[in-house]
Amino acid sequence: MKILYASAEVVPFAKTGGLADVAGALPKVLASMGHETRIVMPLYACIDRAKFGLRPVTDTFRIPHGHESIEVSIEQSDAIPGVPTYFIRNDYLFDRPGLYGQPDDDHRFVAYSRAILEMLPQLGWSPDVINCNDWHTGLVPTYLKTLYADDPRLRDIGTIYTIHNLAYQGVFPKDVMELAGLPWELFTWDRLEYWGRFNFMKAGLQYADKLSTVSPTYAKEIQSEAYGEGLQGVMTYRKADLYGILNGIDYEVWSPRTDPDLPAHFSADDPSGKAKCKAALQQEMGLPVDAHVPVFGLVTRLSAQKGLDLLDAVLPAMLQKEALQVVILGTGDQYFHDMLTKLAVAHPDKLAVSLKFDNALAHRIYGGSDAFLMPSHYEPCGLGQMISLAYGTVPVVRATGGLADSVKESRRPNNGGVHNGGNGFSFEPYTSRALKMAMNRAMTCFADAPCWREIMAHAFQSDFSWEASARQYMKAYESAIAHARTRPVGV
Ligand code: ADP
Repeated sequence: MKILYASAEVVPFAKTGGLADVAGALPKVLASMGHETRIVMPLYACIDRAKFGLRPVTDTFRIPHGHESIEVSIEQSDAIPGVPTYFIRNDYLFDRPGLYGQPDDDHRFVAYSRAILEMLPQLGWSPDVINCNDWHTGLVPTYLKTLYADDPRLRDIGTIYTIHNLAYQGVFPKDVMELAGLPWELFTWDRLEYWGRFNFMKAGLQYADKLSTVSPTYAKEIQSEAYGEGLQGVMTYRKADLYGILNGIDYEVWSPRTDPDLPAHFSADDPSGKAKCKAALQQEMGLPVDAHVPVFGLVTRLSAQKGLDLLDAVLPAMLQKEALQVVILGTGDQYFHDMLTKLAVAHPDKLAVSLKFDNALAHRIYGGSDAFLMPSHYEPCGLGQMISLAYGTVPVVRATGGLADSVKESRRPNNGGVHNGGNGFSFEPYTSRALKMAMNRAMTCFADAPCWREIMAHAFQSDFSWEASARQYMKAYESAIAHARTRPVGV
C-alpha cells in the first residue's frame, strides 16, 4: 500500500508533544512491513536543514489561497530510514520561530493542507491513503471530497483522520471558507459550520472516509458530553467509522539499555544501573541524594488537561509530611509555572522544577525516577506512562483514555502475598483525595522492597511496541480506501 502520513510535527524534525512521537514512529513501522510510506509536514524555521539533509525536489509552483495564489516548493529529507519526508516550503508562512499559536494559523494550515494535495502531481506520486492528523490537516479530507472530487488523479485516495487531542480544534472566523476556496453552501451545521465559526477539526471529522483516535477508551469517551469538547454529536454520528488504536512507543528511542542521555544503562535483567541514574538525577536537580526516598517524576506540557490542579491540592501537605521527592519538567501555562515555582521555593529539598522543554533531561527523569505521575483530567493516549514503563519507572495515573488502557492497578491482597500482575497505580475519580491515596499506595509498596521489585518487573514487561497497532492501522486504511472508491463523488 502507498501511504502518505500528514502531520504538523514529526520526530526528529520538530516536536511539541506526543503527535510528533507518533508521526516519527508509526510510518517507520508501516514501511518495515513493506508499505511505501512517506510523510509530509511544513518547513518551520526550527528545522535544521543541514543536519537532516533537506534538498529541493520540485520547482516552485503556485497554489490557490483565498482569492489569490501563493508560491510553494517541496523539499525532502531521508533522515527517517525508509520513509521519505516532504517539507512544504513557504517562507512567509512557516519560516518563523514556534510551530503554532500564530495569529494567522488559519492561513498557514489552509495553505499546508492545499499544498499537500497540489504537491502530488508535482512529485508524480500518489498515495492510496492519506493519514491526516489533528486540526492542522482537517481540510485534506474536505478538499478531496469537494474541490478535488472529480480530479481523476486524486479522487480515489482514501483518508483516515486521526484525533490525537479533541480539545485542540482550530476554530477561526468563518472567513476561512473563502481562504480555503470552499463554497458557502457547505457552511451549514451538518458540514463545516460550528457556532457561526469555522472548525478545522470538524471539517476533518465530517469528510474523512474513516476516523481514528489513539486509544480504545478515548474513542468511547469522546462520544460523551464530558469528553466530546462540543463535538460529541459528530463523534456519535460517525461512531461506526471510528477506530480506537492505542499508540505505541519507539523502543529504539526509549531504551534504558542504550539511551545515550542516561549516566548508566540498565534493563529488566540487570536493573542495577537505575540506582546510579536516580542518584545522578537527584544531584542534577539539587535534591539530597538518598536511595531510600521515592522519587516521583513528571514530564509534561503544563496545561489544565494534565491534572496539575490536583497536584497543587496534594503536594503542599505531602511535601511537608512525607518522605518523598518530586521532579517536574514542563512548560506551558504561566499560571502553572508560577504555582510550581512557589511550591519549589517552599520545599527546596523535596521538589525540583525545571520549566523548559528539554529532551535529554526528560530521558534522565524517565530513567532516574522511581515512579511517574500522570493525574490527567483526560488523556487521549499518553506516552509518558508507556515511556516510564520501559524504564521500570512505575506510573501513578488517573484511569482515563489511554492511561486506562495501558496501566493496571497493582493492589496487594490483604494477606501480603503477591499482587495481581499490575504495572502501576491508578485512580478513577478526579479528586485530590484519590490521587493522594494512589501516591500513598505507591509509597507503601516502595518501602517494601520485594513488592517494588515485582511491580518494576511488570513495568519492564509491559510491551507497547508499534507492530500490533500498525496492523490495526492497516485494517483502517483498507476500509478507508474501499469507502473512497465506492462513495459517490462530489458529496
Ligand atoms: P501530549 O501529547 O498531550 O503532550 P503525551 O504524553 O502523549 O502528551 O506526549 C508527551 C511527549 O512530549 C512525551 O514524549 C514527553 O516526554 C514529551 N515532553 C512533554 N513535555 C516535555 C518537556 N518539557 N521536555 C521534554 N519533553 C517533553
